[in-house]
Amino acid sequence: MRIDLVTLFPAMLEGPLSGSIPGRIREQGLAEIHVHDLRQWGLGRHRSVDDAPYGGGAGMVLRPEPVAAALDALRGPGSTVILLDPSGEVFGQARAVELATRPHLVLVCPRYEGVDDRIRDLVDLELSIGDYVLTGGELPALVVVDAVIRLLPGAIDDASTVEESFSDGLLEYPQYTRPATFRGRGIPAVLTGGNHEAVRRWRQEESLRRTLERRPDLLASRPHRADERRILDALDAPGGDQGRGDTGAG
Ligand code: SAM
Repeated sequence: MRIDLVTLFPAMLEGPLSGSIPGRIREQGLAEIHVHDLRQWGLGRHRSVDDAPYGGGAGMVLRPEPVAAALDALRGPGSTVILLDPSGEVFGQARAVELATRPHLVLVCPRYEGVDDRIRDLVDLELSIGDYVLTGGELPALVVVDAVIRLLPGAIDDASTVEESFSDGLLEYPQYTRPATFRGRGIPAVLTGGNHEAVRRWRQEESLRRTLERRPDLLASRPHRADERRILDALDAPGGDQGRGDTGAG
């Protein structure tokens, strides 16, 4: 996969994309990531990229010509051009999974009051990372790129991405590590019993329980298998809570 990012603040992107897992993914050649300074396509001697809004009002707006020139330079036959924008589709795991199959992403990170609206005609997808307003598209672009590249084959242990929150439309089950007792709280005995099938069933039930408690909206928008339906019915039933299984030091 190749990813190109267009920004007025390249340093904001280079740091986070060079360290930790994103850095390793790049070093391994799983994703080739290039950060471009929008100003190289700026206008005139001052490489100007913004102007006052028609109709008046606060702030500046990114002019369309520099952004269009960047896209002309970066877009190829297999490219998906993404504009980060608060009015875009709310980004989620399903979109991340889908984007991870695409060969080339170009992400445009506006600033100020955003970009001239005519740029929307030149992009394939507009993404928002949630219902709040940030100062620029760099942090949203990092969120999208991080969520996508960790899904590339070989990026991290495949099992991690199969069993984690949202991958199956559910929240993940609770995780524990040593010590076996922490501030008086033990761990579920089933996790140290060596019975893999019992662990699998416990995790499935806890994943459903947690989703039911914290994000019932996720359950409402997801078909359930028969075994999941049985667990949910038991959790939902009055007095049907089968307990958290926190049984001491384990
Ligand atoms: N005037 C714009 C509005 O009211 O929708 C907000 C502009 S914001 C200050 C500057 C840029 O930050 C946006 O153009 C967008 O690229 C980015 N941005 C801010 N919040 C975002 C969000 N929740 N999701 C995606 N991008 C966001």
